[in-house]
Amino acid sequence: MSQGTIVIALGGNAMLQRGEAGSYEGQLKNVQAAAEQIILLRDLGWNVVLTSGNGPQVGAIQLQTQTASHVAPEMPLHVCGAMSQGFIAYMITMCIGNILRARGEEAKVAGIITQSVVSEEDPAFVNPTKPVGRFYTEEEAMEIRKTGKQIREDAGRGWRVVVPSPQPLEIVEQPAIERLVADGFVVVSTCGGGIPVLRKAGVLEGVNAVIDKDLATSLLAREIAADHLCILTDVKNVAINYGKPDQQTLGRVEVSEMERYLAEGHFAPGSMAPKVRAAIQFVRATGKPAIITSLFSAVGAVRGECGTVVVP
Ligand code: ADP
Ligand code: MG
Repeated sequence: MSQGTIVIALGGNAMLQRGEAGSYEGQLKNVQAAAEQIILLRDLGWNVVLTSGNGPQVGAIQLQTQTASHVAPEMPLHVCGAMSQGFIAYMITMCIGNILRARGEEAKVAGIITQSVVSEEDPAFVNPTKPVGRFYTEEEAMEIRKTGKQIREDAGRGWRVVVPSPQPLEIVEQPAIERLVADGFVVVSTCGGGIPVLRKAGVLEGVNAVIDKDLATSLLAREIAADHLCILTDVKNVAINYGKPDQQTLGRVEVSEMERYLAEGHFAPGSMAPKVRAAIQFVRATGKPAIITSLFSAVGAVRGECGTVVVP
């Protein structure tokens, strides 16, 4: 029996664990383990839509194209994002497909290159904050600045290009995703939050920015009217007073309580805060639950046995 549709965001650790170099073989091994967990959820009767982060992958691709610019033209960040989506969706769809094929089932799994519309008026474009790519010396940085890129000193470690992190407003491929889900496919989409694009007089155009994958996943879940949102990361539970002696893990939490904790500053910006915000947005818009937990607690959390669950 179908349980409905669950949108699951895979955290960076589903592909790269702390300290790993990021070889293809290493990432594939991690993705294989993630795929096995995802299939367990599908076996419970959920239609599964997967998204993922892409930070380390897009960073590596950008470094490759920058380093090799004397032999092949450097590609803009949004193109690197598209490349990373292809790479990640390839690994995930291959692993999930292999599990299904081994069972003699039809491998109904598909990866979608996904664009996310952002607004040119987004305040993030006036104040870019997200450091991306390699470190430069001050001398190099001043040359790069002349090309119109924004570059800043990053916590005493060197200079880095900073790009805006605007709000995702629309998932361009949403109709295709919905149709594949209705047809019984596991869909991999919106990796890295989607490729940022501007809509100018009806025409889409790539823009150099980084979209938060948790916020884009929440938007996708609302757009396809999902029944459950599940954000998988490297901690089993969200905590208040995180890292302090009076740290307290959260289990089932009402959305209004979560909003209060968010306002009180319990969640680090750029890591846990966007997940909490994504969960709150989904629960507020749909009246359905949102989970934040670790990959290996996903099945238990969906059953209501563990993890942090935000409820109406
Ligand atoms: P992902 O790749 O899954 O997006 P992030 O590193 O962005 O992972 O976010 C997860 C991290 O957020 C955890 O490893 C934890 O260190 C951190 N974190 C910050 N604040 C909290 C909190 N209040 N409760 C739990 N984890 C938190
Ligand atoms: Mg993150």
